[in-house]
Amino acid sequence: MLAPMKCPHCNVGIYESLQRGTPYALPKGVQWTPYFQVCPECKQDIVYLECFSTSTQTIEYIVERFIAYPSNPTLRQLPPEVPDPYRQDFVEAVAVLPLSPKASAALSRRNLQALIHDLAGVKGPNLDSEIQTIIDSGKVPSYVTEGLHAVRQLGNFAAHPIKSLTTGDVVPVEAGEAEWNLNVLESMFDFYFVQPAITAKRKAEMNKKLQDAGKPLLK
Ligand SMILES: [Zn+2]
Repeated sequence: MLAPMKCPHCNVGIYESLQRGTPYALPKGVQWTPYFQVCPECKQDIVYLECFSTSTQTIEYIVERFIAYPSNPTLRQLPPEVPDPYRQDFVEAVAVLPLSPKASAALSRRNLQALIHDLAGVKGPNLDSEIQTIIDSGKVPSYVTEGLHAVRQLGNFAAHPIKSLTTGDVVPVEAGEAEWNLNVLESMFDFYFVQPAITAKRKAEMNKKLQDAGKPLLK
C-alpha cells in the first residue's frame, strides 16, 4: 500500500512512490542513501536522504530520512482547485520568500495582476488603477478588495510606481509586504477557484437527487 503524502512543491495530495538510489558508503562506517520521486501533479523532483551505520548488525540511523529537495518545502497550504500558472507562481513566491522578499513580492504582484486580467476581466494602464476598478465594480467581496487596497498601500505604489506599471519587477519591499501579497492571493484563489468549485459540486449532487426524484434540475 502506498502511503499518502503531500507534494513538498505543490502541496497536492499524492502517493509516496520513492525509488531508492545508489547508496554511498563512507570508510568511517556510515552509508548515505538517496530516494527519488517525481510529483505526478507538478512534475518536480522530490529527493530524500538518509544515513545509517554500516558497522552494526541492526540498522542504526545516524540521520533518519529527511527531505533534501526542495530545500524549503511549501509551508502554505494551497487547495487543489488552484490551477497553473497561478499555482506555480504562488509556490515559487512562497519558496523564495525567506531568501528574497523582494523577489517573492514581485512574483506575487505579477500573479495578482494575472488573476485580475484573467478572472476579473479587468485590464487597465497599471495595477493601481486595475485595483481601483475592481473595488469600484462591487463584484468582488470586501475581504478581497480590502486586501487588494492594502497591496497598494503597503507596497507604497506612490513612491514605487514601477510596482504598479511593471508588476513583476524586483524592487525594494516594505516590511510584511511579501507576506501580505501572498495572503491576498490566497483570498483571491478562494473566491475565484475554491468557492465556485464547492458550489458546482453541491449543485451536481443536488441535481442527481432531483433527477432521481424526477424533478426539474437546477441550472
Ligand atoms: Zn507536486
